[in-house]
Amino acid sequence: MTPITTFKGRRVAVFGLGASGNSAAKALLAGGADVAAWDDSEKGRESATGAGLPLVDLNSADWSSFAALVLAPGVPLTHPKPHWTVEKARAHGVEVIGDIELFMRERAVRAPDAPFVAITGTNGKSTTTALTGHILAAAGRDTQIGGNLGTPILALAPPAESRTHVIEMSSYQIDLTPSLKVTAGIMLNVSPDHLDLHGTIENYARIKTRVPAGATFPIVGVDDEFGRAAADGIEASGRKVIRISTRALVPHGYIAGQTHLYRVSGKDAEEIADLAGIGSLRGMHNAQNALAAFAACSSLGLSDDAIRAGLKTFPGLAHRMEEVGRRGNVLFINDSKATNADSTEKALASFDNIFWIAGGRPKAGGITTLAEYFPKIRKAYLIGEAARDFAQTIEGRVPFEIVETLDRATAAAARDAAASSLPDAVVLLSPACASFDQFPNFEVRGNAFRDLAKRPV
Ligand code: ADP
Repeated sequence: MTPITTFKGRRVAVFGLGASGNSAAKALLAGGADVAAWDDSEKGRESATGAGLPLVDLNSADWSSFAALVLAPGVPLTHPKPHWTVEKARAHGVEVIGDIELFMRERAVRAPDAPFVAITGTNGKSTTTALTGHILAAAGRDTQIGGNLGTPILALAPPAESRTHVIEMSSYQIDLTPSLKVTAGIMLNVSPDHLDLHGTIENYARIKTRVPAGATFPIVGVDDEFGRAAADGIEASGRKVIRISTRALVPHGYIAGQTHLYRVSGKDAEEIADLAGIGSLRGMHNAQNALAAFAACSSLGLSDDAIRAGLKTFPGLAHRMEEVGRRGNVLFINDSKATNADSTEKALASFDNIFWIAGGRPKAGGITTLAEYFPKIRKAYLIGEAARDFAQTIEGRVPFEIVETLDRATAAAARDAAASSLPDAVVLLSPACASFDQFPNFEVRGNAFRDLAKRPV
């Protein structure tokens, strides 16, 4: 845990008592603050009571006594309208901040030069965070990994000059971190997402741009217009940007051509790594993630050899194109995290000879955007509420069966893939749908597939 001493002796309201709110309240208490914790839900309040946190009903509290409101990420700060706690805080001139801001202030007094890598973007945050952390740890650095992924930042070990924090940041968390200042700041990509909480895409991109803008080493993915604008804007303020691209040459930074990664400086491009054969980093989207991780680790002084060694041993994250088994000629891939067509596209692009398990609770637009990959699909096994709809889309273009459930789909796909004798047959669960019609969440769905993949045909 990182005790927060910068609010010692002062009264702080903490609203939203999930994992991050709970750890913020504990860290503030440990540092000597007077904490008033609250949540709108009974469940949140119960977890806080269980953890021994002091509950105070913020509806009727004296707001003039608070030095700050620490808000959980995801509680609306601006859109669609500020949460009632935010309005109360504003009315009383109380600053509204998040757990990463608390960490930033603690770092500023305790170890201002402690290495800190912040990672944001619409897609690929978790993979890039896990990969960067893995490379650093494999090279022997004292490394803490968390934030939006896994462990909340204040539940990690405190900042220290010889310890690196690798932190995934969602746009909500960035919005709650006014003094964000990091060593390496990665913005991978920007596409429309969570606009309900950020208003417009321009506002969403502006929030994300604060991560590289507040970094000693700004690392920006320039494969979309928002990334290019961010890089140009930071450079206009006189700082050199490390650009990364999987599509075009950049003046200074890192590029990928298929599995090959290059470092570019002016007219020179030097090959630095080859991802071929690294099962956890298949596909051009993972090439982008690997470029970003390479750039960050290199900025922190790791040698190219050490970074290459870390790339090779990356175990990958569960449920994201995760290899869960191989039987004879058949590889089983769990991509349960792919809950929309955009994510599934990445998986379909990464394999050939696919026995595809898809379906669940459909998202708007269905799978019509995936047509260019249909020729790679040997057969589709359709499950859940989306089955009939998806069948209509692929009718006449991809052989399919409506099998309703994941267990039947996996058994049928495994049988057909084995019988095909194709040397690179893949049974791929990449549903392009939410899981909620048949499973509590995508993790449970992916774990079920992992178990099924181990059963003999
Ligand atoms: P996030 O934490 O941003 O949600 P993840 O690393 O968990 O990202 O990846 C989620 C999904 O997003 C993956 O399953 C993949 O389909 C897609 N993805 C991963 N990296 C990228 C990337 N760099 N660009 C676009 N899509 C990506």
